Order: sequence, then C-alpha cells, then structure tokens
Amino acid sequence: MRLLLIAMLFSAAATGALAGDGRYGAPPPDLDRHLARLKDAYPGVIKSHDKEKLVLTSGVELPISDGRTDKSFDELLDHPDIDDMFAIPYPAHAEPKAPPVDSDPGRIRVEALFRAIYGDCRKGDVRAKLRKVPWFGGSVLFTTRNGADRALEAVARDLATLPKPMLKYLAPSAGTYNCRPIAGTDRLSMHAYGASIDINTKYSTYWRWTKPGKDGTYKWSNQIPSEIIDVFERHGFIWGGRWYHYDTMHFEYRPELLPP
Ligand SMILES: [Zn+2]
Repeated sequence: MRLLLIAMLFSAAATGALAGDGRYGAPPPDLDRHLARLKDAYPGVIKSHDKEKLVLTSGVELPISDGRTDKSFDELLDHPDIDDMFAIPYPAHAEPKAPPVDSDPGRIRVEALFRAIYGDCRKGDVRAKLRKVPWFGGSVLFTTRNGADRALEAVARDLATLPKPMLKYLAPSAGTYNCRPIAGTDRLSMHAYGASIDINTKYSTYWRWTKPGKDGTYKWSNQIPSEIIDVFERHGFIWGGRWYHYDTMHFEYRPELLPP
C-alpha cells in the first residue's frame, strides 16, 4: 500500500507539469539528470550548474527556477526558466502519434541560453558562423557552433542509406537559417540560430495550416516515416511532429533533450 502510494505520488509529480489544467512550471523530478545532460550537450557554453543557477562561460548566470508553478501554457512559452525546458519529456524513438493537448516537448526554450550558444542573428553574429552542408542534391546553411553542422552531416549520411522512396520527404529543404520570430509570436525560432531544418513541405503537416475542431483542439496528422525521425533523433535533433502544435517538416538540434 505504502509503495503504491509512493508510486502514485511519483507519477503525479512526473506529469504534474503537463496536467493540462493551465498550471505549469514545477521542476521535473529528474531535474539533476537534465542539468548534467544540458552541460554535456553544450560544453563550450555552460561552465557549471548547481541547484540555483546555470553558470555560462561568459560569466552570465541563468536561474534554474523562477519559483513559479502556476504558469499558463502561454506564459510557459513566453517566460520559461531553465527547469521548464525539461517539464515535458521528449519521447525519443517512440512511434509517431498524436501528443496530448499542449504537450510540446522542446518548444520551451530560454532565449538567453540559445543566444549564448549560437549568437544573436539581429546583430549578425549567427550568419558569420554558418557553412554549407550538402543536402540531397543541394546544400543548406547550418551553424558551425556546438558541432550542429557536423550533426546534420551525420544525419544526411545516414538518411542516404535509407530506401530510395524516402528521399522525396527530405528534399528540397524548405529552409534552415532565417532570422525571424516564430510565426504568430515575438519569440526567436531555432531557424534564427541556424540550428534547425525544414524538410520538404509537400509531405508535411502544420497545425497553423488547419482549423481547430468544435472542441477547440487541433487534429494531429503526419506522413513523415519513423525511419527518418529515428535518424535525426540519433544525432541530437528533435522533431516538430512530437508537438501538439505539430510541425512535421521541422527538426532542430537539441541534444540536451535526447539520450547521450
Ligand atoms: Zn522549422
């Protein structure tokens, strides 16, 4: 009984951050593991961390928690702290399927951290670090910071070994670097850091291209084969098809959310 109670409490804590009740911000129970992974994923940028703060090599300190556990979903996206980035677990290598309402693992990003990693495109310091990576008969521009370009190269190399019919999903790429906010928001997209790629729009679905149903929810759909998603995830990229606010052409380099 006691064990059962502990198990129930633990699972409530694990899912509390995405209960769909409009209250978000509680740190995940395995926060220490996530912080260690975050430091390993960006070795040149994060110097150290403790329970209170992330210390960047630039000397900037980012608080792990702002103490809030009552954020709305929009506040979570607009004003996240470091622990919020891990509040919704990313289901790497799972079969593609419709996520629960407002479950957008990886869409919660602390901008100050990503600007420290990749630079601020509005000041021109992202473009200076881009290079061409070959992409199925053409090439795309990707950031050389933090090895993201080498990760994309490894993705392209592995994708090239898939059966020929898979190639139609991949090219032409619908874009990589673009110094712009996320559509409908003033938050910078991962495209603004040169760390994200959109594959062929022809076989893609995007929540903004649809209308919500009578109950106000969006209906998820997907055509991208799991073999393609697996390759990207193996090399540190997350997939926008794992979001309730789905964007199935979109992959972004987020090694901190994937197994080492
Ligand atoms: Zn995209």
